[in-house]
Amino acid sequence: MNLENDRYQLSGGVDPLDLVAQYGCPLYIYDTAIMERQYKRIQSAFKVKRLKINYACKALSNINVLKFFNTLGSGLDTVSIQEVEMGLKVGFKKEDIIYTPNCVSIEEIEEATALGVRINIDNLSILEQFGQLHPNIPVCIRINPHIMAGGNSKISVGHIDSKFGISFHQMPLVKRIVESTGLAIEGLHMHTGSGIIDADVFLRGAEILLNVASDFENLDYIDFGSGFKVPYKEGDSATDIEELGTKISERFNDFCADYGRDLCLMFEPGKFLVSEAGYFLAKVNVIKQTTSTVFAGIDSGLNHLIRPMFYDAYHEITNISKPLTKKRFYTVVGYICETDTFGINRRISEINEGDILCIHNAGAYCFSMASNYNSRFRPAEVMIYNGQAHLVRERETMDDLLRNQVEMSFATAPTTPALAEK
Ligand SMILES: *Cc1c(COP(=O)(O)O)cnc(C)c1O
Repeated sequence: MNLENDRYQLSGGVDPLDLVAQYGCPLYIYDTAIMERQYKRIQSAFKVKRLKINYACKALSNINVLKFFNTLGSGLDTVSIQEVEMGLKVGFKKEDIIYTPNCVSIEEIEEATALGVRINIDNLSILEQFGQLHPNIPVCIRINPHIMAGGNSKISVGHIDSKFGISFHQMPLVKRIVESTGLAIEGLHMHTGSGIIDADVFLRGAEILLNVASDFENLDYIDFGSGFKVPYKEGDSATDIEELGTKISERFNDFCADYGRDLCLMFEPGKFLVSEAGYFLAKVNVIKQTTSTVFAGIDSGLNHLIRPMFYDAYHEITNISKPLTKKRFYTVVGYICETDTFGINRRISEINEGDILCIHNAGAYCFSMASNYNSRFRPAEVMIYNGQAHLVRERETMDDLLRNQVEMSFATAPTTPALAEK
């Protein structure tokens, strides 16, 4: 979002305040130009013969976002059978979908297998069961390289006590299962967590995975997962994807030369592709001053965007109604009956009630984690494509809240005999 004179503009010159006037508030807006820019950055950063980017659709799962990445040539990284079905429904080819579930039942894995997508197995028990059921269907295995990464303990998934993946110390057990079942391993995978800043952390994990890979003869791909970090504020550290690309490509190409085959290098970014493409707009309902704090209370809360409360995530907040007024300090909070603080003591252009605030980096893990807590409707979503705004999800209504509820009838008289006697 750029400031032109005294107005903010989205790509193609779309005014976000016009979108609020048209579609209401609060509102999610996604800019496909930014998704495309990020996709192409990864594409050009890695110089290998075969590169595949699988968009991790749990980050933002509107079907139009999935379709857009499909048109760019992306594959799809999925973590549930429902994501697999959505991917197929919007037109991804089955071989372009990889299913990386965690702690799901063998029955769900069977369903995904029947749909023909790539299966990534992350524990020994399922590997053994799968090998006995389908020795002829090649699979990928998720290795845990025990690299401590990720900006927050809740999003670090590769450390020694993490529930994710098969420890690389357990490779002898994997080999035994593979030998006794005759299962073919077509891919190896790791995903160490969200928010990796250091290229060397990534490389350490990669080194472990390549080491494991040299023990398998029939690999087709190696999937280095994701965890690429994007800046959430000015001066924030971020993954230097170009530097990482140069280092990983060099190492990967050497590995392929040794291995004797051009393997496909895969990644499955979510946040990197969509975080910066998203904006969340909300209206200021009240300005409330206490003895020490000026609160700006908005018409949203942790029901719509939970990252600041869940992960202590920092999201930049700007007053897009008044871009040029003098800045003052505000604590921006929501309307939910919980402490739902979006930002503490932020310098924001002077806010009046009715102003529209923009919460930035609202593409990844924002709408997709939204709920109906406090019986609030989830917001509408708008996508900017080729400079035009398109409504891609309607705001919910009371019908949505009631849809699956089954109403009972209750007797008016007491139904407990003991109480009836008194
Ligand atoms: C969530 C997830 C990703 C995406 O992570 P980002 O940090 O959003 O890039 C990739 N792979 C797997 C297996 C995941 O669970």
